[in-house]
Amino acid sequence: MISKPKGTRDIYGREAKIWKYVEELIDATMDKYNYTYMRTPVFEESELYHRGVGESTDIVTKETYDFMDRGERHMTLRPEGTAGVVRSFIENKMYGDNLPIKVYYNGPMYRYERPQAGRYREFTQFGVEVLGSNDPMVDAEVISIAVNIYSMLGLENIKVNINSLGDTESRDRYREALINYFKPHINELCSDCQERLLKNPLRILDCKVDADNELLINAPTTIDYLNEESKKRFEDVCSYLDILSIKYEVNPKIVRGLDYYNHTVFEVEADIEGFGSQNVIGAGGRYNGLVNQIGGPETACMGFATGLDRLVLALEKEEIKLPINEGTDLFLMYVNEDEKKYALYLAQELRMAGFIVDTEYTGRSLKAQFKQADRLNSRFSAVLNSEDLDNNEIKIKNNKTKKEAVISLDTLIYYLDENLNAGENEFGDDADKFLREHDKSCDGDCCCGDNDDDCSCGNCHCH
Ligand code: ATP
Ligand code: MG
Repeated sequence: MISKPKGTRDIYGREAKIWKYVEELIDATMDKYNYTYMRTPVFEESELYHRGVGESTDIVTKETYDFMDRGERHMTLRPEGTAGVVRSFIENKMYGDNLPIKVYYNGPMYRYERPQAGRYREFTQFGVEVLGSNDPMVDAEVISIAVNIYSMLGLENIKVNINSLGDTESRDRYREALINYFKPHINELCSDCQERLLKNPLRILDCKVDADNELLINAPTTIDYLNEESKKRFEDVCSYLDILSIKYEVNPKIVRGLDYYNHTVFEVEADIEGFGSQNVIGAGGRYNGLVNQIGGPETACMGFATGLDRLVLALEKEEIKLPINEGTDLFLMYVNEDEKKYALYLAQELRMAGFIVDTEYTGRSLKAQFKQADRLNSRFSAVLNSEDLDNNEIKIKNNKTKKEAVISLDTLIYYLDENLNAGENEFGDDADKFLREHDKSCDGDCCCGDNDDDCSCGNCHCH
């Protein structure tokens, strides 16, 4: 048997419905914020991620899926979304457009990691990027998007940690201070951190191995190295978050490993029991240096990414009930070939009218089809009986109340609409009453007796 590659998952059934719900909510929310959807390639030239110069990050040094294509070009499966968006921003000269560019993406990312719950080799990230504004209001807006999406999904137990690395000057001073602080104690750090000391000392503070080491706990904090301008900027971000009633904690230990971050950095933790160390569901920050590093003009940017796998896991762990559409509106049953053809035709008509319709595909007996309607959780079911069809009628059964009604096929759409959307069937099984109220077809004589073209009785469709 061929099995899926290590660290990948098949998402199907109920879980896939949750994913779809989450993704639709994201799309609808991003529309409100006026961010446009963007897709970039899943693989890019390796150079985009392995930029040679700069500091080291786990993502780039240990986690990328690199390969040579048949044309002997070095390619990398994207480990994150920002670099691709920035590459596209530069390549498509978006910096010449009306700034800022506000975009979001949602798609698979690849990292060669040790798989465990909430940590996969293929996972999905939704992220937003704002390119071309250094306004602290953007920082607050981006953080608020993350928080609002989690809270709209009903995820209450989250914690937002924010910090500021300051501008380049502040960050450099802090970097220097960290090196001086750790240098005499280098042997007390894990082997990865020893390597990080000169390349990316900030990343030491993020280390999971050394997390409880006193050295890390007492390390200098970024806040003490912010210059006045950076301090003021950070205060502005905090005050804008207050305006949005976003709860956060200033946590000087949040540094984000990537070397292009400056000013605001943040992480959103799911404060959920049993979530283990993979509890950071989203993270982001300001990256004013990246566009320039990749070859574009100096551009102030801010973004964040959230792992949908971890987000969905959090929803499940918290047993959050989402309004996921379970079941179908109508299940069409039939026995003979003529009835089957009609089922095929009618299912299509009703689907185009907006109903969720299913029918029989495996030649089950009528009895087994009733069971199938139950299994599919169908709100209504109908047997397409040739005799009824000849009379232009259909027998329809409300599977909840078990009541049956014979109605004219012409009014089926009204009938379903009325019963499904009103929740209750106000007509019960009184199909005649239903027809009186809803049959708006006109036999030529206007029901109000007024046959003028400008009839305004509102009771019929004849004009
Ligand atoms: P971690 O510290 O857990 O390794 P990270 O700092 O590598 O996270 P980012 O690069 O900031 O994570 O990615 C943002 C989000 O993407 C994370 O908060 C997480 O939800 C998700 N994510 C990152 N790596 C994985 C993975 N291997 N599997 C599933 N989700 C992931
Ligand atoms: Mg990681």
